[in-house]
Amino acid sequence: MLDCIFCKIANKETKSTIVYEDDMVIAIRDLDPKAPEHVLIIPKKHIASINEFKAEDKDLAAHILVDVVPKIANDLKIAESGYRVVINTGEDGGQTVHHLHVHILGGRSMTWPPG
Ligand code: AMP
Ligand code: ZN
Repeated sequence: MLDCIFCKIANKETKSTIVYEDDMVIAIRDLDPKAPEHVLIIPKKHIASINEFKAEDKDLAAHILVDVVPKIANDLKIAESGYRVVINTGEDGGQTVHHLHVHILGGRSMTWPPG
């Protein structure tokens, strides 16, 4: 999608620090990390938010949760200590980039409830 920062990152038109990539997703370091480890998993396909998931995206959603999140947590060495997986959605959810992305945050103890 034109003028979407995460499409540009997925297409390598904008620089990012890539930690993982396959045919469905790219995972990068967050530019403004909220924890010692803060990675964003970004589908290569433009999906605005979790509200726009279609039936055809089930493989992608499962791939992210079943394969990519645990692999990155292992690679970052936060699988054992624990981490948080977040998908901010819409205005009340605090979503600022309107291309679906999954945050992985770790390396410190998280508080609950979130702000
Ligand atoms: P959200 O508030 O869930 O939409 O999160 C958007 C995240 O994207 C924030 O944590 C930003 O710091 C991060 N972000 C925005 N632009 C970039 C970029 N060019 N490279 C890496 N992370 C970014
Ligand atoms: Zn996009």
